[in-house]
Amino acid sequence: MPADRNYFCARKFSEITVNVGQQTIGTCCAETPNIINYNKLQQENMFNLSHMMREREMMLNNQKVVSCDGCWQAEDQGLPSLRLVQKHNKKILQSPTVQQVKSFNLVFGTKCGMTCSYCTQNSSSSWFKDLQHNGPYELIDQVDLYSIGNKNLVIKKISAVFGSSKKNEQILFEQICKAAKSVDMWYVTGGETLLYIKLLLKLLNIIPSTAQVVIMTGLGIKEKQFTKFLNILKAYPNVTLGISAENMYELYEFNRYGNTYKNFLTCLTAVKNSGIDYQFFSTLSNLTVFGYVDFVQWADKKIEAQPIITPSFMRIQNLDPASKKFLIEKMQTNYCGEFDWLIETLQADHETSLNDKKNLQLFLQEFSNRRKLNLNIFPNTFLEWLNIHVV
Ligand code: SF4
Repeated sequence: MPADRNYFCARKFSEITVNVGQQTIGTCCAETPNIINYNKLQQENMFNLSHMMREREMMLNNQKVVSCDGCWQAEDQGLPSLRLVQKHNKKILQSPTVQQVKSFNLVFGTKCGMTCSYCTQNSSSSWFKDLQHNGPYELIDQVDLYSIGNKNLVIKKISAVFGSSKKNEQILFEQICKAAKSVDMWYVTGGETLLYIKLLLKLLNIIPSTAQVVIMTGLGIKEKQFTKFLNILKAYPNVTLGISAENMYELYEFNRYGNTYKNFLTCLTAVKNSGIDYQFFSTLSNLTVFGYVDFVQWADKKIEAQPIITPSFMRIQNLDPASKKFLIEKMQTNYCGEFDWLIETLQADHETSLNDKKNLQLFLQEFSNRRKLNLNIFPNTFLEWLNIHVV
């Protein structure tokens, strides 16, 4: 158990996340959010909604907030959580009320042509289609993520209702316009954000040019369409593209299924030629970590990396001892400061639970069979540890 258990996290006090598709609102993008109550949203300050105030009060009183369970679970096992990796655990505030937030995360919806290995139906329409057409992944205790249950259908219904409610749309838009007056940093995500170009332009036109906007994209779009977007985005010098990637070649195509590495490079070249600023955002799991050191050496821009917390079987530390040793040595040989927390995670005394190991095995077999992908891109020791035999 880590020494610091003050249960404080600055992200609760400095961020707002609104998911337009799922109709939810919360603070940090990693917490479990609340469904938007439009009456309250109209009456209360968006940065200080009653549930946010309650949770901040709890954090200030050193109590465990349920919506941050992903972080607590990781820390309970002595593992790095987002709050610890990003160093948000210093109790620097005293009041649950905030005058303004540092960043606003806006999630447009789930429209996306990719099924990234760490992603789920909650963020990708292609993942939803996979489950709808090919059935659930028969994993242990992972029903919410890998099968279409009532919860997912309710979310779809809520989104559909919202889509037809002009009044709610107007309330939300007014609140976002109010927020735009004081927020300096915006993160816009999807699905694939660039598939929501109308919404994106509506947003860019209300955000002052003095604020920074990071538009997240997986570059999973055809070159012609992408170049068209880039030409539109050139009119907004405050925009940076946040490109999601962490691997190259076959590992890229496995973990970012739905895009080809060739198309990724073509679109990246178009970004470079456009003059629009960009940076990388890497999501690190036990499936993406294998190609990460090569990616860091190849990348010519800043990388912001974060560990996967959910599903637990995909956490970085769930690897065989030989793979851990290999990765630690590779990071030490090609050392950069960004590797510190990763090395620490891999060196931690952690034993993968039987359920996590079984789920990882089942997931890899199902994911690769459905997409006709070969698992031989992963080290033998890793596959043998999972009792997976490839030809
Ligand atoms: S504790 Fe974790 S989930 Fe909660 S606000 Fe901080 S980073 Fe987000």
